[in-house]
This record gives sequence, structure tokens and C-alpha cells, in this order.
Amino acid sequence: MQVGKPSRRRIGIDLGGTKVEGVVLDADDRPTSRYRMATESERGYEHILGRVEIIVDMCRREAPECVAIGIGTPGAVCRDGTMKNCNTTCLNDRLLPQDLTERLGMTVQVENDANCFALAEAVAGAGRGAGLVFGVILGTGVGGGIVHRGELLPGPQHLAGEWGHHSIDPLGPACYCGQRGCVERFLAGPAVEEQYRERSGQAADMPAIVAAYRAGEPAATAVVEQFLDRFGRAVANLIDILDPDVIVLGGGLSNIDELYTLGRDAVAGYVFNNELRTPLRRNLLGDSAGVIGAALLL
Ligand SMILES: [Zn+2]
Repeated sequence: MQVGKPSRRRIGIDLGGTKVEGVVLDADDRPTSRYRMATESERGYEHILGRVEIIVDMCRREAPECVAIGIGTPGAVCRDGTMKNCNTTCLNDRLLPQDLTERLGMTVQVENDANCFALAEAVAGAGRGAGLVFGVILGTGVGGGIVHRGELLPGPQHLAGEWGHHSIDPLGPACYCGQRGCVERFLAGPAVEEQYRERSGQAADMPAIVAAYRAGEPAATAVVEQFLDRFGRAVANLIDILDPDVIVLGGGLSNIDELYTLGRDAVAGYVFNNELRTPLRRNLLGDSAGVIGAALLL
């Protein structure tokens, strides 16, 4: 149970580009039921609101006393209440929290999905019991969130944890954000696949590249060794600033075992200390972290 919060049931919604998921948590933050359906985001903004409403209705049938919901989604809410940086682009510039509040007749809190991941893992997952937790997302993008003693720290500009756009090479590849050599341009799945394609002349997805690396294939070896080295550099930068009690890895690439051995050794080589004590843990909640974190916003 989250420190300092009353024990009660909560509803969380994960609004992704491909699916909308809802969960009801019991008073001990355990999921008692979950519902999901396709977002069908290609059908537009009003349709997406309708999909969220259906899922919320299902959850409320089970927990009618809930008068507020938390929603996790890519991007963030600007100061004027509009959305920005969503890869479900029809949400951008829309007043999502306000429109959902009116449609559902409930209080709605919208939060970035990487922050929801970090909150869930800090409160109910691999970071449980730790003071300062940095949740890292390594997937099709690179993001993160910071949780201190069970409370999310989004920061006054809602930027905290966005380490994916630290530049670690000003001469590196261009990023959509306008910089060059962002962490995301080196560590996200599509970026590694691009590096492999350039080096080998062949297309392969991340699991195939890792399998080829383990088999000793030269192009995959070069690409994965560079990936682990850059992971070490980028995570050491985080640790030098925050010195978190625990770092929890999530997203599709967090399943790569070498991150916790060779990747960790690389971090130790770059961190500004003669030892590395920071635990680097695999997430415990898997795909459910986002929706559980959304419920924990309340
Ligand atoms: Zn960038």
C-alpha cells in the first residue's frame, strides 16, 4: 500500500496507441480485474474518448464508489491543459483531461506512461521499499520517471526523468527533438536495428540481433557491444546526478540479460565512483506496470 494514502480501491487506465486497458486495484494495490480493447486510434479523437469510456464503465461496475481515475498515456499535459509529444498524434493539442472529465463525470488525472511505469515499479514492483527509484523504459523509445518514497516527482516543467534526450554525442545521428546523438537514438530498439542494418546490410529485429550476438556473428557483436557501452555511459550519467537507491528497467529491451551483467560492468566503468552499488533490476510487473501506475496516481 502506498505510504500516506488511505486504503481504498482505485481505477487505472492505460491509453496506448494500440490498446486501452483498465484495471481495478483493491485496497492493497493488487489488481482484481482488468479489461482491454483496441484503441482504434485511426478513427480519431472522439472515438478514442468513447473507447476509454467503455473501459471505465466496465471498471466502475465493479468499483462504483470510485469517483476519480488515473490515466497513463504517451506524452504529457501542457500548462494550458492540452496534450503534447503523444505518438498517438490525434491526442496532441487536445484538452484530454478536461474532455474526459466532462464525458465521464469523474475527476481525471493524466500522466506520462513512463512515469506511471516508474510509480508502479516503485510502489508495487522491483523498487518496492526503496527510497529513490529511477524507472527506465528501453523500448521503441527511451524514457524514464523518478519516484521518491512512493511519490512521483514530475518536476515543474514535467521533464524529470526524460534521459532519452540527453545528448551523449553532439556529432551523433539527428533526433526528432532537434538535437544530435540523444540516448534514444542509440539505445531504442529501432535505433539499434538501424545500426545493424547499416553495418551488415541486412534487416533484423532486436531479438534476432541479440541471438546473432550470442552466436558470435561479427556485425551483431560490434553493434551489441556498442549498445552495452552506450547504455553504461548513459546510465552512469543518471547515477552521477540522482544516485538512486534502485534503477528498474522496463520496455521490450529490458529483457536482454546482458544488460544486467556486461551492461552493468559498463555502467561501473563510467560512474564517478570507484564502485557501483546501485541495484539494476528487471521490472516485476511487465506490461501491467503502466496501468497499475495509472491507478496509483490517485
Ligand atoms: Zn532527442
